[in-house]
Amino acid sequence: MKIGVLALQGDFAEHIAMLRRIGAETAEVRLPQHLEGLNGLIIPGGESTTIGKMAVAYGLIDALRQFGQTQAIWGTCAGAIFLSKDAQRQQPLLGLMDITVERNAFGRQVDSFEADLHIPALQQADPTPYHAIFIRAPLIESVNGSAQILAQLTDGRIVAALQGKLLATSFHPELTADDRFHRYFLRLAQ
Ligand code: GLN
Repeated sequence: MKIGVLALQGDFAEHIAMLRRIGAETAEVRLPQHLEGLNGLIIPGGESTTIGKMAVAYGLIDALRQFGQTQAIWGTCAGAIFLSKDAQRQQPLLGLMDITVERNAFGRQVDSFEADLHIPALQQADPTPYHAIFIRAPLIESVNGSAQILAQLTDGRIVAALQGKLLATSFHPELTADDRFHRYFLRLAQ
């Protein structure tokens, strides 16, 4: 199993460390040819406008769109925004996932927070609640078409969604010691 991590900007190193820890082969992706032979790709958190602009500059947009037709892609935070069809602003998006997101929906950097989530898809083997870290996070405002809700806050707001092999999380599993989300993604990428 070989998983790439888009390494243009943001916390790609933390994703790579977590993937190695659970036994996956990894690759940093900066150019279209780096996608060859990958079973899946993670788009990290960071700043979605920057990631999008760099992806345009590096000629990655079409290659990533094509990759997402057959292979698994997981976007965390800024990565989830970049995967979406609609971020309600002008910025380069892959438009692969039929979700609408609201950037910075929880407020500014100082309003970052952590929350325990109930995520049935992850808690089959280990029922411990999933502790999620939100850093100037986007909200998944709506999940449309064949996309489905994977996790919600207790007030019902959507913070993770799944569409076939495409996964979006508002939060940062790579910043915790809990590897259940990365293991879940490896199963999607199989
Ligand atoms: N606020 C960032 C954005 O809108 C996302 C923050 C993050 O990835 N932690 O792109």
